[in-house]
Amino acid sequence: MTDDSKPLVAVHVCCGPCATSVVERLRESYRVHAVWYNPNIQPDEEHDRRLATMRELAGAINLPMTELHYDVEAWLRDCAGLMDEPEGGRRCGVCFEHRLWVAGAFAAEMGADFFATTLTVSPHKPAATINPIGLRIATEAGVDFVDQDFKKRDGFARSIQLSREFGLYRQRYCGCLPSRGDV
Ligand code: SF4
Repeated sequence: MTDDSKPLVAVHVCCGPCATSVVERLRESYRVHAVWYNPNIQPDEEHDRRLATMRELAGAINLPMTELHYDVEAWLRDCAGLMDEPEGGRRCGVCFEHRLWVAGAFAAEMGADFFATTLTVSPHKPAATINPIGLRIATEAGVDFVDQDFKKRDGFARSIQLSREFGLYRQRYCGCLPSRGDV
């Protein structure tokens, strides 16, 4: 299949390191366009550092990318009352939902055939939680969803290997301030 005849997938990218192996795998079957929307990443200096890392990767692998608004207020509104939840608890479900809604709506708006997310490549992010959210959002937006668990077939190990090869910054906490241990 030539690249031009492949369907277009808009993939929500959570960070550069996770995008490495997911984009590599998606490119086997799709033309890939990255969508950056991660207002969960706080403080803003950390968000900007991770975004700069994602831009670095996009430049290195010739990956088109759209950067959406850093809407921390909207993320905080959705997660109100959930800041004491442990990592992996109810706040995370709302956080996935928030980011995938915005990115999925953009996927439909840009005319992508498929919507996907890099989130499942992380060993801390269960596909059983994320993929049903992505599938529902994609269906409501009118695009197909790439229902894969990207950590399978050594996807996470490959992301570490590629991140090292590209010299990418790898963060030490998930993203929100509770996950950093500040609040
Ligand atoms: S721990 Fe990670 S996934 Fe959970 S709410 Fe915070 S940023 Fe989102």
